Amino acid sequence: MANNYELVRPIGQGAFGKAFLAKARDGSARQCVVKEINLRKMSAREREASQKEVVLLSQMKHPNIVSFITSYQERGCLYIVMEYCDGGDLMKRIHIQKGQLFSEEQIMDWFVQICLGLKHIHDRKVLHRDIKAQNIFLAQGGLKVKLGDFGIARRLSSTLELARTCVGTPYYLSPEICNNKPYNNKTDVWSLGCVLYELCTLKHPFEACSLRQLVVCICRGRYAPVPAHYTSGLRQLIGQLFKVPPRERPSINSLLRLPVLESRIKLHLPTEILHEEFSHTVLHNQKPTGPRHPQRPAQVLHV
Ligand code: ADP
Ligand code: MG
Repeated sequence: MANNYELVRPIGQGAFGKAFLAKARDGSARQCVVKEINLRKMSAREREASQKEVVLLSQMKHPNIVSFITSYQERGCLYIVMEYCDGGDLMKRIHIQKGQLFSEEQIMDWFVQICLGLKHIHDRKVLHRDIKAQNIFLAQGGLKVKLGDFGIARRLSSTLELARTCVGTPYYLSPEICNNKPYNNKTDVWSLGCVLYELCTLKHPFEACSLRQLVVCICRGRYAPVPAHYTSGLRQLIGQLFKVPPRERPSINSLLRLPVLESRIKLHLPTEILHEEFSHTVLHNQKPTGPRHPQRPAQVLHV
């Protein structure tokens, strides 16, 4: 299996392994990304969870989700082969702006695509749990946006634990996770708010020198105002996503019904997929994707 892909160069280092740009050795020389996850550092249970997540990933097929190609194991590592997004991640894209604000058109165009990817996941009763600018990728010269890196970062028992151990500051934590309360799909909606805020201000909404202070900032839900350069509609939308009680935050399906987003959907989804995606809100009859990890119930949405 490994022989089928030639690793060209490393393109990213995350908390759980390395990502490489690779080329398929099938004659097509198709570019792809091979993500290496070290299983040796994991417990048996964590390893099993990683395997399950690969299955999950392989079942998500959507224009706004990084597509899965295959996976294999070798010398104690799990390798996930996926589509290469030539525009890199949204965090890098924000950095190269060097303070120059994006247009509202550009922001909404990206945002609706992120929402469509997230809808696909939430409708399947799965949570992403790691929505952040670094896990959102640009393709086709920045025209297309794809959600990536989901489910893989699940080797720690709780997201707060993950936050404590990860490199850098966990800017995207929701208030309920900070308070160690049970969480649901609205946690992803909070993180979505962080991404939207960053697209508008090029800054994190909640920042502090320590985790403890960050938690205080997040739980207050107060952030520096979004530049008046943007419409009040966009600023209000951010306010909705940053509602501290999860119940008051919109679901992904109600977000997509906002005229400003709804009008853009058809620009990004071919008619056939659009019909399929919107003929339901939650897939009740969807077969579960294998036995879920009993200690991670929050991963599956209870509707
Ligand atoms: P981790 O779990 O280690 O965070 P990611 O899948 O987020 O793994 O990959 C780490 C980094 O590698 C990303 O932030 C991005 O810069 C790069 N990367 C990963 N997957 C892709 C991809 N499909 N296309 C382009 N860049 C990618
Ligand atoms: Mg990542």
